[in-house]
Amino acid sequence: VTSSPERDFVLAHLDDLHADLDAWLRIPSISADPAHSADVAYSAAWLAEALRRTGWPVVEIWPTPGAPAVFAEWRSADAGAPVALVYGHHDVQPVDPPELWVHPPFEPTRVDGPDGPELHARGAIDDKGNIAFHLLGMRAHLAATGRDTPAVTVKLLIEGEEESGSPHFAALLREHADRLACDVVVVSDTGMAAPDVPSAVTAMRGLADAEITLRGPAVDLHSGSFGGAVPNPLHAMAELLSTLHDDKGRVTLPGFYDKVRPLSDRERELMGRVPFDERAWLAGPAASRVATGEEGFSTLERIGARPTAEVNGMWGGYTGPGHKTIIPAEAHAKLTFRLVADQRPEDVAAQFHAWVEANLPEGIEADVHTPPGGVAPCVSDLDSPAMDALLRAIGQAFDTAPGEVLFTREGGSGPEADLVEHLGAPLLFLGAGLPTDRIHSPNERVLLPMLYRGAEAAAHLWRELASVRLR
Ligand SMILES: [Zn+2]
Repeated sequence: VTSSPERDFVLAHLDDLHADLDAWLRIPSISADPAHSADVAYSAAWLAEALRRTGWPVVEIWPTPGAPAVFAEWRSADAGAPVALVYGHHDVQPVDPPELWVHPPFEPTRVDGPDGPELHARGAIDDKGNIAFHLLGMRAHLAATGRDTPAVTVKLLIEGEEESGSPHFAALLREHADRLACDVVVVSDTGMAAPDVPSAVTAMRGLADAEITLRGPAVDLHSGSFGGAVPNPLHAMAELLSTLHDDKGRVTLPGFYDKVRPLSDRERELMGRVPFDERAWLAGPAASRVATGEEGFSTLERIGARPTAEVNGMWGGYTGPGHKTIIPAEAHAKLTFRLVADQRPEDVAAQFHAWVEANLPEGIEADVHTPPGGVAPCVSDLDSPAMDALLRAIGQAFDTAPGEVLFTREGGSGPEADLVEHLGAPLLFLGAGLPTDRIHSPNERVLLPMLYRGAEAAAHLWRELASVRLR
C-alpha cells in the first residue's frame, strides 16, 4: 500500500467524514414528495453550513422555482489556475416500500458486509456520500500540499431536483453561466465497477420519448359485420412495432445510427476487462432467461455504448372481462429511445415521424407525439489531459497504475449533458458508488472503504489537474 500525505490526512479524519454524512443523511430530502420540500431546503442549508465550516470562502444557496441548489467556490491563488466544477445533488429518492428497509432509511446504520464496513441509509451514496467525500477531499488536498488555497479553482454545484428530473437545472445554468464558468466538469454521481476494480465512467446515455396513436374506423365496429374487411389499428400497431428492429437487433429508423460515435479500440478493450458475470446479472433484478440485443456487441456495450429503442406500453380495444367482438377504432403505444453521443433527441424525433409515415398501412392514420426536450447523451474525451489527471488520481487512491484504471459507461440518463451544453466544458466522472449499492432501492448503502478512497482521489485530482493544460 502506497502512502501519501493525502491518504494520511483522509485516514486521520474519518470521524469528520462520518459525522458530516451521518447528520446529512438524517435529513429526508425527498424531492419528489411535496411533503418533504422543507427537508430538501434544510438539506441545502445543512450543506451550505458544512461547506462554510470546512473553509469554503464562497457559499451560496441558489433558489429555483422548485428545490434550492448549493453553489460554492474556492479560488486558487495561483495565477492562471484552471477551474473545475463539481456537479452532484443533495436530494434523494423516495423510500417506498418502507417495510423492506432492514434499518430505518433516515437513521444511518453501520453494517459489516463481505467487502468491509457499510453505511446504510437513503442517499448514503446517491448522492450525499459522493458529495460528502469532497468536503474531506478538499481539506486533504490543502493539508497535503501545504496550501491555503487549492491548486485549481474548485466550484461546486449541488442541485436539489436530480431525482425529480432536474426540471429547473438548465435554467439555473443559464441564469448563473458566468459564475459557473469552468475548464472541466467533475460529475460526482456515479461509481465504479467493483470494490477492487478502480474505474472511471466515461459516458451517459440520452433519452427521447415518443407516443403514437393509430386510427382506423371512426368508432369500434362489430367484428362480425366488418372483421377481415377493414383495417384493424391494433393489428397495424403490432405490425408496425415488429419492424422497429431488424433481425440483427438494430433499430430501423432511417438515419438512427448516422451520428453514433463508434467505440474506440482502446475503450472496447478496457470495457472488455471490466469483470461482468452475465449469468449472475441475468439472475439479478432482471430475472431474465437470456441476454439479447444488437448483434456484435457485448451486454455491457449494449447497455452503455449503443443506442436502443424500447416499447414501454401498448394499449387499445377491449381488455375487460369476457369478450367484446370489435374492431377497435384506435391503438396506442409509448416508446423511448436511449441515445449515445453524438445523437440528438430532436433528430430521433424527426426520424421517428418519418419512419411511422413511411411504414403506415393503407387506411390507417397516425398521430405521432414526440415531446420537445429529451436528454442529450454525453461522453468524456478519453485522450484528454483532464482524463489523464483523473486516471492518475484514481490510480493513486486505489494503489494501481493509471493505465489499469478501467472505463465503464452509464446506461442511464441525467442532466450532465446540460452542463456540457451550457458551460462548454469537458466532463469527468468521479464517484464512489458500486453496482451493488442498491441506489433507488430499499437498503441503499455505501461501502465505506470506497468513500475513503473517493475522498483521497478527489484530493489527488485537484493537484493533478493543476499539472495539465486544460485550455
Ligand atoms: Zn444520483
